Amino acid sequence: MDQTSMSTAQREALTYPHIEANTLDDQGLARRCPLDNGRHEGTPAFHLGDLDKLPLELLSKTLVQTDLRSLTDLRRVNRRAMEVVDSIMQYQVIVAHAPDSLRGILAIGTGQWITCQKLYDQLCTADCDHCGAFGGYLYLGTCKRVCFFCFSQVPDYLPLPLSDALQRFGLGRRIPKSVPRLRSIPGCYTRDETVLRTRLTLVDSESARQAGIALHGSVSAMEQHASEMASKRRRAYAAKRELKAEGALIPTPRRPRPTKAYDEREADPRRFLAVVRAPWLDLRTRSLEWGFHCLGCLYMDDPWQWAAKFTAETFQSHFEECGKMMEMMGDSPLRRQYVGWLEYMGLL
Ligand SMILES: [Zn+2]
Ligand SMILES: [Zn+2]
Repeated sequence: MDQTSMSTAQREALTYPHIEANTLDDQGLARRCPLDNGRHEGTPAFHLGDLDKLPLELLSKTLVQTDLRSLTDLRRVNRRAMEVVDSIMQYQVIVAHAPDSLRGILAIGTGQWITCQKLYDQLCTADCDHCGAFGGYLYLGTCKRVCFFCFSQVPDYLPLPLSDALQRFGLGRRIPKSVPRLRSIPGCYTRDETVLRTRLTLVDSESARQAGIALHGSVSAMEQHASEMASKRRRAYAAKRELKAEGALIPTPRRPRPTKAYDEREADPRRFLAVVRAPWLDLRTRSLEWGFHCLGCLYMDDPWQWAAKFTAETFQSHFEECGKMMEMMGDSPLRRQYVGWLEYMGLL
């Protein structure tokens, strides 16, 4: 078919907007974490002290580089502070077009590690930070644009329990302040609808890894240290078990944790509790793009093709590609059904 001739209506009939991924934005964030923007209108009753002496433009430039937790705290100080924060262009865009990304950050407590500018920049980025495909989501541990495949499969996006991170990256007894901590909110996560009833405290895996590398000087030194410590724990465990078997009056020893992180990938709720769907703000056209999925991709043999998201721009070339892949797959009742649909739409 002539690719330029696909109309918006045809494209909409061949795609669907989103999958029920049960990410953080599906947990009723508007109710749990209301942003009170627009509520406190009127003349400011108080001033901002010395900050008021700065011109508003300069103040905005400084505040946009402030972390979102401090910025939100500042907003609560008084009406004047609220007016100043609300005048930051980037803040306005976030609240108007992607409020759940801000609510999500505040809900899981990663605001102190993410600046207003960083969140805005990620909204203006289309591509997944890891694979470069269109990313319809933000991972809020460190605020990165991600696609479904990457946030559910790549090790960097699996937040870890504190003790796991300490052991795996040889961090000693304490997680450094530079490593973002996340507190999950109870809810229903993953496509399997796994219910998390308690609040988990986790850390961003990649930041913890980087802290370990910085502490030990290199990846190999860090890995060597972690492996030596793991052997030490295993030896201590074996020795205690032996003593216990000989009848020593000691508590039953606890088996050391496995050195490899426990990871259920797309079925692991920890991979979904810091992720929100987020639109891409295309600065060229000043339009919002949430992305969508291709119906044809549902008929592919590739186990992950269904998760790919496209934009109006990338879908044109994908549609052709998808058709070629389908031809190679041969005949099947499902495929015939889809081809019949394409004929009906006048696209074959
Ligand atoms: Zn990706
Ligand atoms: Zn497709």
